[in-house]
Amino acid sequence: METSLLIPPELEVLATSVTEAKVIFQLQFIVTTAYCPLCDSLSTRIHSRYERKLQDLPISGKVVELRLCTRKFFCQKDNCPRKIFAQQQPSCLKRYGRRLLRVCEQMICIGCEMGAKPGARICRLVGIPISASTVLRSIRGGAVTEATTPTVLGVDDFAFRKRESYGAILVDLEKRKPIDLLPDREGKTLEAWLLAHPGVSIVSRDRSSVYALAITRACPEAVQVADRWHLLKNLGENTTKFLDRQRSLIRETAQEVFEQPKSEAAAEVPEKTTSVRVEKRYALFEKVKQLQSNGHSARAIGRHLGVSRNTVRRCFKQEAFVPKINPRKSNLLDYESYLRQRWQEGQQCAKALLQEIKERGYNGSYTILAGFLSNYPKTGEALSLPSAQKVENYSTRSLSIAFCKTEQEWDDKQKPFLTKLLEKSSLLKQLWELNLEFKSIMAQKKGDNLKAWCEKAAQHASFKSFVQGIRQDFDAVYQAMTSCWSNGQTEGQVNRLKNIKRQMYGRASFELLRRRVLANSA
Ligand SMILES: [Zn+2]
Repeated sequence: METSLLIPPELEVLATSVTEAKVIFQLQFIVTTAYCPLCDSLSTRIHSRYERKLQDLPISGKVVELRLCTRKFFCQKDNCPRKIFAQQQPSCLKRYGRRLLRVCEQMICIGCEMGAKPGARICRLVGIPISASTVLRSIRGGAVTEATTPTVLGVDDFAFRKRESYGAILVDLEKRKPIDLLPDREGKTLEAWLLAHPGVSIVSRDRSSVYALAITRACPEAVQVADRWHLLKNLGENTTKFLDRQRSLIRETAQEVFEQPKSEAAAEVPEKTTSVRVEKRYALFEKVKQLQSNGHSARAIGRHLGVSRNTVRRCFKQEAFVPKINPRKSNLLDYESYLRQRWQEGQQCAKALLQEIKERGYNGSYTILAGFLSNYPKTGEALSLPSAQKVENYSTRSLSIAFCKTEQEWDDKQKPFLTKLLEKSSLLKQLWELNLEFKSIMAQKKGDNLKAWCEKAAQHASFKSFVQGIRQDFDAVYQAMTSCWSNGQTEGQVNRLKNIKRQMYGRASFELLRRRVLANSA
């Protein structure tokens, strides 16, 4: 067998054997002389031989074992203190190594990709029998390629343990690669890194003042870009905070808008809305079916009709239209007057009532009905029952989202309520207008309008601290409004890092996490 391509060049094959599980190569060095490691003189006198077992990459799934016959020599120089020495290692092996370098390289790759335990399992599966600890040790021993200093840097922090300890990730935004991890999120650490890697000209960061200060100190001429997503988040939080103080007004308006028409036309409204909803769904179903017969994909149809792919797939599965109303929303309140009437007539058995309203179209469960009936008095005074009213509830958080949208983006249900609300309060109207203006400055990259916006917003009661925050960090926010760089890429890398971190179950250290994040980033 031609083996010169399999075996390291300085070795020759004496014999090969194949067993059920192993391929064994008996090897020896081609040269029969060696140089003394101490005095460097050539020796030809062999003292003895011994065998070393080495591990190579598998062949056809079989473990490959190299049995290397190594010679020991006498040093032939008289005054050399070293009397006996062994032949040096072949170049394919680390000193005292038991595995060829190519095995170690593969092991590190697999280990970085999978983690120690799964990596070891996969290695064993393909014919490299090793333990998880060996994988871990090789990853730790492997070299980390030092990244070049990026021109555009993204910085963000991530949690080792939430609210306890944090680290920071540095990303080359041009190459879209993580370049380093820092063991904490202190300004000093970042500052030291930036001083050791001069040449960064743009830094994208979140809105933390710690990083801002560190970057200013380490590279004062670098342009800082605040993160747009965080700006919008702060804007939303600011809106929620103000809306919280307007709760009574919101509740009042919601009652006015939603509860009046209900009492005027009590029973008909729900029926009507149901049928309208069913009609709408039927029209959609027809359209989907037509497009499907034309051979369009679910994805394309969804995009075309503006519905989710799952909705389209559901229509695909149905042969004919199924007029089912959303089972998760019970329509119990539609039967309230009927239930009250039956209760007064003496029918107080929940199971029987369930049967009766089910026949009339109730779509909820027994549990919902029983819970509802438990409020009815057991004695015959049912006449004094208050009429049930569905209260339209608006959380200030969901409202704050609507307050960052234009009128066209509000859905039909919100529209009358929001219009009324803005009519009632000029403060809320101003808040809404300022929000929209801020968003449009960001969307259209008109950073020059930011200063004027700040002046205007500072007059409004709710924007004081928000504007103050922007003014403190004005240059970076200005850049966020004009620059094409953002921290989105960094956030993605943080997500990837979290994924790797969770694979390790917290067993290994920061150093290992760093190696794994940097190793697999290509
Ligand atoms: Zn010697």
